[in-house]
Amino acid sequence: MNDILNTPILEEKKKLTWHQQNPERAREIARAWRKANPDKMATYHLRQKEYFKEHPEKQREYSERQRRKNVWRTWAKNSIFFHSRRKELVVTITRDELEFMARATTNCFYCGCELLWSVGEGYRDRTPTLDRLHNEEILTKDNIVICCRQCNTTKTNRSYSEFVVYCEHIVNTHKSRLIAAAAKRPQAASAQPGGLPLQQMPAIGG
Ligand SMILES: [Zn+2]
Repeated sequence: MNDILNTPILEEKKKLTWHQQNPERAREIARAWRKANPDKMATYHLRQKEYFKEHPEKQREYSERQRRKNVWRTWAKNSIFFHSRRKELVVTITRDELEFMARATTNCFYCGCELLWSVGEGYRDRTPTLDRLHNEEILTKDNIVICCRQCNTTKTNRSYSEFVVYCEHIVNTHKSRLIAAAAKRPQAASAQPGGLPLQQMPAIGG
């Protein structure tokens, strides 16, 4: 029994504080305390505001630290804000649930590319975004996915199935173009049994 208890994993776990081992519970307790002590929180915020007014560089550092501390939580908060306030949709998924989902998502739902979970680097093609699978008005745990910015921009207001049909259409158009190009060059096509070499493929999307 002692041998089982002294495994390296348990030794590692012992080094972690209670807060590190139970982040969800710790947040719940902190949230409840803040709710129960509005006066203390108001004083705290007032002092913080005054301090940051005198030290704007400290405020920038603080905001950056908060964002970097939990990139998934920052993302969940911003995504919920964007969909509920800007797009005026009903969001039933909580910040905790969306953060949990974000932490478990490493790749784009549609194209499978690896998502760039980082902050302060602006928007890039592989920046994670929240997408409504079939453009529902109410966002629940079951009708949303996390995909790359590039796929989200391309999908726009299409439903999942419409988006797949659209992508198939692009692939088929591209294939027909390749076949037509190969037919025009019978010798080149026979020299290349797999069709045109990559360098000769017509450019997609200009
Ligand atoms: Zn993608």
